[in-house]
Amino acid sequence: MKAPICNVCLKSSDELCSMCEDKHESGEISDTDIKISRILYELSQEYTSLQDSDVKKAFDTEKVIVIVTEEGDGAKVVGRSGEIVKEIADQVGKSIRVIEKSGEDLETIKGLLSPAEVESVNTVFTPEGQTKKIVVDNEYEGKINISIDEFEEIIEEVTGTHYMLAFE
Ligand SMILES: [Zn+2]
Repeated sequence: MKAPICNVCLKSSDELCSMCEDKHESGEISDTDIKISRILYELSQEYTSLQDSDVKKAFDTEKVIVIVTEEGDGAKVVGRSGEIVKEIADQVGKSIRVIEKSGEDLETIKGLLSPAEVESVNTVFTPEGQTKKIVVDNEYEGKINISIDEFEEIIEEVTGTHYMLAFE
């Protein structure tokens, strides 16, 4: 299993090694990354699909924890009929959403917004410069379990591009 923290740190439950600690201090690795990585590692003893998975990042939002995997690894982390995410959800007391990091930003965006559908992605010009606006039908407003701010923050961190989200 590949995770934001190294193999040694995955197996331990206390302090991080000096390399991971540096990343933690610089903000490259968050507390949520550490917590979720260690839970997944523990579960990988029982659920072997996890042993061959690559987990990139985990984000803690108000209602849900978002786990970002390498492209093609989402199903390995979700587990058969969602059995792995159910276990994680029980441990952290929040629901879990798994999305794949993709070469195509739109695929990652769709994963985070599902079941809402993306209507369009437009380039818009703001006083701060050019940005991209994702438009979702307003029938989905309030039905996605992350806020607009949380969405924009996660997508920027995963894709490296700033996207605005709007319900229209
Ligand atoms: Zn380490």
